[in-house]
Parts: sequence; C-alpha cells; structure tokens
Amino acid sequence: MDLRTLAAFIFDLDGCVYAGSTLLPGVNEVLRVLGAAGRRILFLTNNSREDGAELAAKLRRLGVAADRHEVLSAAEAAGSFVAQRFGASRVLAVGSPTLLRLLAEAGHTLVPLDAGDQPQVVVMGHDAEFTYRKLARLARALGKGAAFVAVNRDPQLVIEGGEFLPGCGALVEAVAAASGVRPEIVGKPQPYLFRAAVARLGVKPGEAVMVGDSLLADIQGAQRLGLRTIWLAPPGAQADVVRPDLTISAFAELMAHLGAHTAR
Ligand SMILES: [Mg+2]
Repeated sequence: MDLRTLAAFIFDLDGCVYAGSTLLPGVNEVLRVLGAAGRRILFLTNNSREDGAELAAKLRRLGVAADRHEVLSAAEAAGSFVAQRFGASRVLAVGSPTLLRLLAEAGHTLVPLDAGDQPQVVVMGHDAEFTYRKLARLARALGKGAAFVAVNRDPQLVIEGGEFLPGCGALVEAVAAASGVRPEIVGKPQPYLFRAAVARLGVKPGEAVMVGDSLLADIQGAQRLGLRTIWLAPPGAQADVVRPDLTISAFAELMAHLGAHTAR
C-alpha cells in the first residue's frame, strides 16, 4: 500500500489513539506529519456514550488538537440510522444522557422507561446503570414487536493497564437472549458508520485508510466497504481470516512508512 495515494486517514479511538485516559505513544507525531502533508483526519469510534464535541474535548485534554467535526461517534449516528430505517419513531432507549439527547434531536420521541408505553424501536447504548428491571422492560418491548437497534456490539471497553470494562455489546446480548430478537448495529463493523465517515470526509472509500486495533470491527468492516486498512496489533499477533493492508504494533512504525513517503 502506497500511503501517498491516500487522501484521508481514519483512526479508531479506544485501544488505538487512547486506552482509557492515556494517549498511546506516537499518536501526535503521526497526526502532525499527516496534517503537514495535507491529509484529512477523522476519528471514528463505536463510542455509544459521547458525541463529537465531548470526544474532541477529551482528545484536547490528552494533548491532541482535534475539532468536533473531526470526531464521529456511533452515538451521533444512531438517530439518523433509526430515522433512515424506520422514520421518526417512538424510541425506548437506554444509555448516556448524551445518547438520549441525540436521539431526541434527530426527531424521535423518547418513551419513558417507567411507563408501559410500547415503543416502535428499542435503542441500546452503553449503560453503566443497567439493571434487571431495564432488561425486562427492553426485552418485553421487543417481544411485542419493537425493532432492535444497538449502537455497537463491542463486548469490551479497553481501559488502562490492559484492563477492560463490559461494553455495550455485553448488555445488548443479555437483551437479545431474553427477547430472542437480534439487533441491527449502527457502529463498526457494519457499514452505516463507515459510510457516514467517508461522506463527512468527502472522499471515495478507496482514498481512505482505516487505522484500528480491532480486526473485526475496524479492519474487516472497513475492507467490506473498500477502504484500505492498517491494523494496530499486539506485538506478535497474526491476522488470520482478515488480511490488513499493513500491520503495525506501534505508531512509530507508521511514522517510518509516512516518513518514507512524505519526504520527497
Ligand atoms: Mg478499538
């Protein structure tokens, strides 16, 4: 893969740009080289809790100069996903206050958790206050025919020190098991968020490269849409089913590739 031919670089966030609230080494150097070479940048995350403004603020706190329009989260895409699939809907949602606000801003009517009102669509984001009561409410709504949309299906959230927290996907699986209904997914590896990303960048899929740590969500998902891929892999890890265009174990390796290609 010749990095000189690529107009846009798309970076995953969790486990790629940062782990929890720790910026990974070499990120800023790579971004500086890309910026100097006139490449477009987008941070593309399955984050179901925060929008671009909140995530850009986090990036700035970590020392990365990012504008809100340079970050696109699955939470931000959820409202338009539901609108495109089902029109303006009565939505029963669990997740962060930001996700609920974004759904309302996209024209949907939020159905209260505590009432018995039947929604048209159930939407799930990561919910650190998930309870058995919520599980029952969501599963029953699905049992009565509501459509099921999950912002992402990531089983784990990467945090510092190699640790993880149960992710949105873990909660989604509980609801899917209880209801017998499988969700549609807004985020990676499904195509909706990738399409939104290349649309925002104003490039063709083949002009963009996805850089991420998840072989399934980032690499396989991006390849299906025709994007090029760079896998940030644990040292020694081998890609099996999916074949990234380039595998690196640290951003310093990407610098070497960029340096070789941008110096002339
Ligand atoms: Mg990741």
